[in-house]
Amino acid sequence: QWIYLDGQYVTKEKATVSVYDHGFLYGDGIFEGIRIYNGNIFKCKEHLDRLYDSAKSIMLEIPLSYEEMEEALVETLRRNEMRDGYIRLIVSRGPGNLGLDPNRCEKASVIIIVEQLAIYSEEAYKNGLKAVSVSTRRNIPDALNPKIKSLNYLNNILVKIQSNLAGAGEAIMMNAQGYVTEGSGDNIFIIKNGVITTPPCYLGALDGITRQAIIEICEKRGYKLKEEPFTMHDIYVADEVFLTGTAAEVIAVREVDGRIIGSGQAGPVTLKLLEEFRSIVDQDGLK
Ligand code: PLP
Repeated sequence: QWIYLDGQYVTKEKATVSVYDHGFLYGDGIFEGIRIYNGNIFKCKEHLDRLYDSAKSIMLEIPLSYEEMEEALVETLRRNEMRDGYIRLIVSRGPGNLGLDPNRCEKASVIIIVEQLAIYSEEAYKNGLKAVSVSTRRNIPDALNPKIKSLNYLNNILVKIQSNLAGAGEAIMMNAQGYVTEGSGDNIFIIKNGVITTPPCYLGALDGITRQAIIEICEKRGYKLKEEPFTMHDIYVADEVFLTGTAAEVIAVREVDGRIIGSGQAGPVTLKLLEEFRSIVDQDGLK
């Protein structure tokens, strides 16, 4: 396995970063998780746009141009002979000193890791996940904007710990007003009486690329879709609930806080959307 590390291709064992890297010391950095399907880097432009926007927002200068970044991705995949899998692209502030000041970090570090991915079984896609709502809130827009895909995932990790303790597969987060925002690493949709609803990102969710792909599929197919705030109550009484994310694709939720959702299995619209999503993944991206 070859890992791209600041312009070099190194083995897993040699892929190490400095203990003075501010990505390590302070979570000062950003990342993307990207899928490759049949040699196609799915929604590459959308992921790189989000990466460069996150960088601009935190005043992090990525030492590679957009084109150089694309080349580095393609070359890393080529060296690993990877046609289906997952890409983790990380840009950290780079090595500095123990102080917070990013001006002490001379150059950002760029790391590209590619791996095989098997997150949920086909059985989980059919039967859905069990989820719980959690009290830990995601970063709110007036603090660290959740649109920035930063290396600060401690809120999400605390949420994951809570869902693990509850024996659930995923956690559903709310903002301080009690409106549902997203899962620990996925966006959320509910379906009630044929209407598909997802929370607006301004409530405190990452602007997910899979979320956007699902919105586009709904628009193309003429499904009724709304971006509107909702609460846990709306989840409990929904006909279907599903999560979207680069790794999870489209996965149903069958139970939330002990309430069975719909039939207690992946619902028909969720499965249809998963099928439609899987039919475009090798088309829309960088070959
Ligand atoms: N929300 C959070 C907090 C995430 O970490 C992710 C994963 O990237 C998502 C949502 C889903 O976003 P995407 O579809 O771009 O992977």
